Amino acid sequence: MNHESFGYRIAATMSADVLVCGGGIAGTMAAVAAARCGASVMLVERYGFLGGNATAGAVAQFNSWQTANGRRVVAGLADEVVTRLGRYGGAGEHASFVMSTGHRMDRVEYAPEVLKLVLDDMLREAAVRPLLHASVLDVGVSGRRIDRVHVLTKSGVVELHAQVLIDASGDMDALDRAGAAFLELDEGEALQPATMMFRFGPIDFAQLDALPKAELAALARRGYEEGRLARAALHVSRDPFSNDGWFNISRLGIDATDAMALGAAEIEGRRQAWNAAQYLRQCVPGCESGQLRAFGTQVGVRETRRVVGDHVLSAEELLRPAQFPDAIAAGAYPIDIHPAAGGELRYEGLGDDHAYQIPYRCLIPVGFDNALVVGRGVSATHSAHAAIRVMTISMAVGQAAGTAAAMAARSDLPVNLRAVPVPALRARLLEDGAKLA
Ligand SMILES: Cc1cc2nc3c(=O)[nH]c(=O)nc-3n(C[C@H](O)[C@H](O)[C@H](O)COP(=O)(O)OP(=O)(O)OC[C@H]3O[C@@H](n4cnc5c(N)ncnc54)[C@H](O)[C@@H]3O)c2cc1C
Repeated sequence: MNHESFGYRIAATMSADVLVCGGGIAGTMAAVAAARCGASVMLVERYGFLGGNATAGAVAQFNSWQTANGRRVVAGLADEVVTRLGRYGGAGEHASFVMSTGHRMDRVEYAPEVLKLVLDDMLREAAVRPLLHASVLDVGVSGRRIDRVHVLTKSGVVELHAQVLIDASGDMDALDRAGAAFLELDEGEALQPATMMFRFGPIDFAQLDALPKAELAALARRGYEEGRLARAALHVSRDPFSNDGWFNISRLGIDATDAMALGAAEIEGRRQAWNAAQYLRQCVPGCESGQLRAFGTQVGVRETRRVVGDHVLSAEELLRPAQFPDAIAAGAYPIDIHPAAGGELRYEGLGDDHAYQIPYRCLIPVGFDNALVVGRGVSATHSAHAAIRVMTISMAVGQAAGTAAAMAARSDLPVNLRAVPVPALRARLLEDGAKLA
């Protein structure tokens, strides 16, 4: 092959105080929080809409807002998202449900299409500048600073400059291109699998919900043993507008940062979802008239790269729970590890009033002074990540990172995120309705 230089020309250059790469639920909250704190903000997203797993992945339920005994541990911008969803009629009430493991959990079910509108509204009202259909291509680093990001758009390659970069791409693509360090899996650990969510309906929920849990579990096990379900679960969240449900049944053991594996998983995920839909129709009471109505736009990805931050949150710290002076968010979701293939969930329920904290240091990647991490790339071990990865906590961490980024961008250059006054950051988060314990 004749190798020539593929040098590209820069179609446009833009700048902002804060650049958020990735418009998932964590990145959108970070962008909105930073803008509301007075920063000029740009948000880059590879799709034409926001939400990531929450919309493209059709996850459709925000889990775990409170401890088992009902003490709220996530609020702030996350609450606002639910209120706004409710105004469109796109969310159910806070409700408790029994998980396939038998544990009780609280959640809010929502319509992923409506969430796209809500996130658009929040971005527009906060005057965040969205650059949609834009994928992170390359990142320029000078010493300990990220000084430019190239994104591939329909207009060509656009160069972006910002004082602070927040990597919210889930897969930490921006920090990967910048040469950041990532945590390795320990022996015996595997990345959590991806899942192709699918919408199925109509469902007679009165009939389905009336099934004794043991009977439902037996049906799930039978489907799994017969090779018709990829996991022994019939986990569904209800669409607020209809008698349809979004099912979380498929299981795809891949590294979603491997392009070939990701593409193959999309195809295999649709096959698994189709087979699961046939099983629902044929074997599950209340689902006899249903049809597969839609796949997620993409497979939902639970886990890929986790950054090495100034602090690596551990499962032991969550289970104790450790109290951190620089806590910027709290959570009560248990450690919930889906096996990459076959097998049972590893699920470690928490005590009645048990909540844990996430320290600011977990958001700061080692080796960089002007970058932060949010969402599922936060610095945590595989087991701790399995708890803090959920969308409620991702929204809380996003709010904290956006607030910190705006505070840092306000100070004299050069920005140093380690110099953000943590008491002032925590005070601002509390003022804005967040919970820190
Ligand atoms: C199947 C499944 C079920 C789940 N169930 C629940 C549940 O019931 N309740 C719950 O609360 N949580 C659940 N979770 C966890 C939760 O959905 C995720 O952990 C959370 O949504 C992560 O948010 P994020 O913003 O960090 O990442 P993502 O949602 O992955 O968002 C990343 C964003 O960045 C964009 N992006 C990626 N790469 C680039 C690039 N190179 N350039 C530009 N943009 C890019 C993506 O398009 C996306 O919008 C589930 C997850 C999965 C996969």
